[in-house]
Amino acid sequence: MAVFLAITSTDIYLQVAIPVPMRQLFTYKLPAELNTNAVQLGERVIVPFGSRQVVGIVLSIDESTEYAAKKLKLVLSRVNDNFSFSPQLLHFIQRCSDYYHHPIGDVFQQALPVLLRQIKQPDVELPLVWLTKTDLSEEEQTTTAKRSPKQAELLTMLKQHQGMTWSELLTLGFNKAQLNALEKKEFIYSKSRAVTLFQWQEQALQQDNRLALSAEQALIVATVKEMQAQFSCHLVDGITGSGKTEVYLQAMEQILANNKQVLVLVPEIGLTPQTLSRFEQRFNVPISLHHSGLNNKERLQTWLEAQRGTAAIVIGTRSAIFTPLNDLGMIIVDEEHDASFKQQDSFRYHARDIAILRARQLDIPIILGTATPSFESLQNALSGKYHYHQLRKRAGNASTAKISLIDVAQQQMEHGLSGSLKQAIKNTLARGEQALIFLNRRGYAPAINCQECHWIADCQRCNKAFTLHQGQGLLICHHCASQQRIPPQCPSCGSVRIKPLGQGTEQLEEKIGEFFPDYSTVRIDRDSTRKKGALAKLLTEVSNKEHQLLIGTQMLAKGHHFPDVTLVAVLDVDGALFSYDFRAAEHMAQLLVQVSGRAGRASKPGKVMVQSKFPDHPLLQDLVQNGYQHFAKQALIERQQALLPPFSFQALFRAEANYPSYPEKFLRAMTQIAFEGCQFAGPVPAAMGKKAGKFRFHLILQAKSRKQLHQAVFKLIHHSATNEWQSKVRWSIDIDPVDLSW
Ligand code: ADP
Ligand code: ZN
Ligand code: ZN
Repeated sequence: MAVFLAITSTDIYLQVAIPVPMRQLFTYKLPAELNTNAVQLGERVIVPFGSRQVVGIVLSIDESTEYAAKKLKLVLSRVNDNFSFSPQLLHFIQRCSDYYHHPIGDVFQQALPVLLRQIKQPDVELPLVWLTKTDLSEEEQTTTAKRSPKQAELLTMLKQHQGMTWSELLTLGFNKAQLNALEKKEFIYSKSRAVTLFQWQEQALQQDNRLALSAEQALIVATVKEMQAQFSCHLVDGITGSGKTEVYLQAMEQILANNKQVLVLVPEIGLTPQTLSRFEQRFNVPISLHHSGLNNKERLQTWLEAQRGTAAIVIGTRSAIFTPLNDLGMIIVDEEHDASFKQQDSFRYHARDIAILRARQLDIPIILGTATPSFESLQNALSGKYHYHQLRKRAGNASTAKISLIDVAQQQMEHGLSGSLKQAIKNTLARGEQALIFLNRRGYAPAINCQECHWIADCQRCNKAFTLHQGQGLLICHHCASQQRIPPQCPSCGSVRIKPLGQGTEQLEEKIGEFFPDYSTVRIDRDSTRKKGALAKLLTEVSNKEHQLLIGTQMLAKGHHFPDVTLVAVLDVDGALFSYDFRAAEHMAQLLVQVSGRAGRASKPGKVMVQSKFPDHPLLQDLVQNGYQHFAKQALIERQQALLPPFSFQALFRAEANYPSYPEKFLRAMTQIAFEGCQFAGPVPAAMGKKAGKFRFHLILQAKSRKQLHQAVFKLIHHSATNEWQSKVRWSIDIDPVDLSW
């Protein structure tokens, strides 16, 4: 018998993660003809699943199986490209799946670039990069500068940073016409980026652009450098404009000089071309981008460049945390408090949190930077778990903006603007400066109603008012995206007196235009920036002072640098003061401080005016009088007393179905088991109790320790299989939920 076995070649069974919502691996047999070279963990294989073929990831290679070998399906083929998950990345992704209790196959699916998820393998081309001719004369450049400042700017950028891709240039706000013009003049040329390992060279650091650090900045850089060969987490809590970016840039130097890679996570790169340009101007090394403004091919290129070691720096949004940087030496998370780091559907990970996990696993430093730390990070810093660094002064000679509260009950209001705000805007414009008006509500009006019977047009699928989008002539539900024409008359009473109710950015833009007809107004929100490159274009126009009045939603609150904006007006913050979500005040404060940070970033002093019906509200008063830090520390004391996160740990179970009783019963059944150290809250209808026709319920599980939480969630998942309502609902788990409102 033994002799026989020795002659037969060994059978190979693979356990494969497959993109299906099931929490298990699937076993396949590897046919002998595919076993020509040894299978590696992390390799992609194509396997049958039901009637489909899917791409799976090999997570285990065994010579025996507990299943009847004859019944096992065969692997159809192996994907023989140059990409496979490294052991490190495999381990990281498995940890993420465990932490969030999310099906492993789906976690892998989301970690992979779209083109690598497909059966059909993509043609992988090397990205084209642009360079300047070396023999470019001063004279030629001066002429260009005179004729087209933008072309000259592009030329300077390319000169400093030899070898930039089109996606970098687009992200920076340049367009194809500028590029083509320079190419036609033969000032620049393109070639495929070479597949060479990134190697640090003396000239890679643009010394001229390096700033002399303040004492506070220098101390942070020195501390990070001292610990750069091990895991350490640094919270850089620095007011806007205090020079955090400069700290990142100098902290990275030594890492890059050691030929290690740096990953920079930002909330929304398209929103902050300035940040990107700072990196480009400082380091003449290959930088790859990963964000939603790029197409699938461009994102795949980034992924491959990171893995091959061609890219020295990867800058990207949330999902860039899965980029396979094989020689990662440091992670930076800019604006760590930003909600966009949390994915709000299916695999609900928080990129900042798993970035810390990745840094710990690789034993490398991670820097979290923000002007408004999340309470989680602040608590970790205060308790000594993270290194806590503060930057209390604005860099250079910029002063901090003063916030004043305007009591709207005491003033004549016109289209949402108080008299004193209007006057302040007028004065700002007269000085030749710019004003930013912030209203976190896009569209023309948040509702339309009938003046006679008070009927409101609402989305039947969500039981919420439709938002009026006048420009498109449509009513759009902001919750489920369904659309309707504006009815010519009231469907309830037949009256034709249907009017917008309340105000959104689209209407504000129109009214501001009427108030200040001699000045140009620009609106920056999701609607006005849908087209690729549109945002960069608008931001460039703002920098060029083509517009004096900027109107926008929270898109405008993020790290932009507008040197001539000296007045920031916030029209409405009241919603957050009375929310039932315990995080609403934290988010309101962050938003307010972030928008305020847009004022007076350069040498001119800035002013911030906040309109409220409740200017005496203690939260607002504390924030305005004592600043974010004081506000946050007070709020942390309250959270501690109430045993809310970060002093406890939560998992949110969401369930939805076509009938309200199903999700409620499903969740109620879950609460029948008691877990040590854990408490349930709910089930209760979600704040959006109905969305897209489905009734939604929430159940919160709260635990004193993370371990207790995970054990309880683990058991609940196990028990859910026997929950009699299980097949009637769709449900999900959200570990460390940040938004309880939906
Ligand atoms: P943050 O990232 O904290 O918002 P930045 O790094 O963008 O701040 O710095 C704000 C401004 O101050 C930038 O124009 C930057 O060039 C300048 N700056 C930063 N550090 C210094 C420094 N040490 N000396 C002079 N200017 C500085
Ligand atoms: Zn009516
Ligand atoms: Zn809807």
